[in-house]
Amino acid sequence: MSHVIVIGAGQAGSSLVAKLRNTGFDGEITLIGEEPAPPYQRPPLSKKYLLGEMDLERLYLRPESFYTDNNITLRLGHPVTSVNSTAQTVTVGGDTLHYDHLALTTGSHPRRLPAAIGGALGGVYVVRGLADVDAMAPEFAPGKRVLIIGGGYIGLEAAAVARSKGLDVTLVEMADRILQRVAAPETSDYFRALHTAHGVKILEGVGLERLLGDTRVTGARLSDGSEHAFDFAIVGVGITPATELAEMAGATLNNGIETDEQGRTSVAHIWAAGDCASFPYNGGRIRLESVPNAIDQAELVAENIMGATKTYVPKIWFWSDQYDVKLQIAGLNVGYDTIITRPGDKDGSTSFWYYQGNTLLAVDAMNDPRAYMIGKRLIDGGISPAPAAIADPATDMKALLKP
Ligand SMILES: Cc1cc2nc3c(=O)[nH]c(=O)nc-3n(C[C@H](O)[C@H](O)[C@H](O)COP(=O)(O)OP(=O)(O)OC[C@H]3O[C@@H](n4cnc5c(N)ncnc54)[C@H](O)[C@@H]3O)c2cc1C
Repeated sequence: MSHVIVIGAGQAGSSLVAKLRNTGFDGEITLIGEEPAPPYQRPPLSKKYLLGEMDLERLYLRPESFYTDNNITLRLGHPVTSVNSTAQTVTVGGDTLHYDHLALTTGSHPRRLPAAIGGALGGVYVVRGLADVDAMAPEFAPGKRVLIIGGGYIGLEAAAVARSKGLDVTLVEMADRILQRVAAPETSDYFRALHTAHGVKILEGVGLERLLGDTRVTGARLSDGSEHAFDFAIVGVGITPATELAEMAGATLNNGIETDEQGRTSVAHIWAAGDCASFPYNGGRIRLESVPNAIDQAELVAENIMGATKTYVPKIWFWSDQYDVKLQIAGLNVGYDTIITRPGDKDGSTSFWYYQGNTLLAVDAMNDPRAYMIGKRLIDGGISPAPAAIADPATDMKALLKP
């Protein structure tokens, strides 16, 4: 009987094993996770779960009974410590298991601040796992002063939760503007205005020189020389793909674990999906950090393990919730040269459309689900309306979908 081992019991790992059973795989399946919790969704960690508006059970992707009912062995609480790709074995918790196919869905590690600048002090948190959020949650008391380092989506979502709970929030972003790495200046401006209106102090073009304190953080010195007192700090400065096991197995790394268009790594019988994997895209190679990518890529790998020869063509979308604003993103904006603004129907709703020449690449829609949905269908269908049509509020958006 064939044995598929999946390392990483997160979004991709859980989707992969479910899809394997769905497509009729009747061999042995083992899903191994180092975290003690069964596979859960991470997005609420910086949103409703941190706000205290979502129970733990609702975080779980599937009830634990799903795994037993589907004859999937779930091994939690211990990391896989080695992979031997010649013997086709993995080592976990002192056991050596043989695989016929191995899938790496190991996700990513949050970047931490070096201990030399105070990164190891008490009261300094990252937002990656359930344990991180459970550890920081008691700090979220009204009046407490928090420093958030990094103005990406996770830092901004944490800032929104902290303000909603009555904390005093300062966010520092080393780049010239928040969201610089991922969005147009228009989107940065929208979210800067939103956070400022809610009372967040946003400092852009200002880095952290060091955190201050003996054993616990008490403040920070910033790159402009100023010193400020804080009660705790949250570090949201990005992630690095978890590639250690792939490297141990001898797989090629290339901005994460390199896979071909079907999800195979460079080592026989080893596959990869999710945050940890980079794949061919538009003549280049990309790695995505999103739930839709983790699910779709993992399901494709499951089908290909079963003998399909499907190519991964991502339908790229993402979202972020901050206060009462839902941002929905469709497409990938890399290479854009023009932004078209389209006001929405409701107060505060708007969308920014990224073009490269006359080609529509992506849409950021703020409280404008209609713009998002139409933008997504246009992008997925390879349709690029004239920029002037998008800018014109009188344009019937649905009509644009007709070729
Ligand atoms: C706070 C937060 C908010 C987010 N918000 C959004 C959002 O709004 N929208 C969106 O699309 N995406 C969001 N994301 C990103 C999204 O959650 C990830 O892209 C997605 O979880 C990736 O799935 P994955 O399976 O690749 O990795 P993960 O879900 O991270 O799972 C990887 C698992 O592998 C385990 N693992 C690693 N190494 C080993 C080992 N050696 N042995 C055993 N287990 C191992 C890890 O412990 C982890 O549990 C957010 C992420 C975070 C952290």
